[in-house]
Amino acid sequence: MDLNAKLTILERMVGIYDRFVGEFDLACEKYCAHCCTANVTMTTLEGYWIFNHLEKTGEMHHLETIAQKAHPDRFLPQVSINRLADLCARDSEPPEEHLDPDAGPCPVLVNHACPLYPVRPFGCRCMVSAKNCGETGFADMDPFILTVNDVFLQHLEHIDAQGYTGNFADVMQFMESDENRQNYAAGQLGAVPDGLVANQPVFVLMIPPEHRERIQPVLMQIRSIQV
Ligand code: SF4
Ligand code: SF4
Repeated sequence: MDLNAKLTILERMVGIYDRFVGEFDLACEKYCAHCCTANVTMTTLEGYWIFNHLEKTGEMHHLETIAQKAHPDRFLPQVSINRLADLCARDSEPPEEHLDPDAGPCPVLVNHACPLYPVRPFGCRCMVSAKNCGETGFADMDPFILTVNDVFLQHLEHIDAQGYTGNFADVMQFMESDENRQNYAAGQLGAVPDGLVANQPVFVLMIPPEHRERIQPVLMQIRSIQV
């Protein structure tokens, strides 16, 4: 599948997700940004999408900000979500992840707002809460939304199976290189660079038994995307 087809699928998945989550009563609103931390992760496909958006809108300065403000203690995933699902399905122990909840705000956050909002990573998009996290100190997320989030993240990685997953700041810095973008577009990425991890296809979806029936309409929408 070529890169344009993958980007089209990504955009359609975002549309499906936004309609799905729009049916819930959520406390999320503009300028609520407690969830905008330095620990967001995403795929290279999303990084390419964001880079294209910045190029089109003439907002390339955000790349410089990301490089300058990338937090030294930001979360660096050891495995992708599909690898994690695979390890769990095989009863293998996943590597220990180190996430510092005090790593600070996302490097692009300005005045409590996201300058990339229409193309924000799925990891940001799927962070929702029924109650304001600033008041509760945690996100109050319906367990079914959590399951749907995993399924979307797994499918996103699946369509970017030749790419990488990493911290938002690391993927954007990777995409800033013309050579990396060209290799990515040509499907010719080499060895995984430090700080990123290899993506892989879906082998098993992380759907608990109590959600297997309820999630079918969402799964059908994802699987019926035609490009
Ligand atoms: S997830 Fe929490 S912090 Fe983020 S927008 Fe929603 S209520 Fe605000
Ligand atoms: S990319 Fe945007 S939505 Fe995501 S954490 Fe950063 S400021 Fe928040």
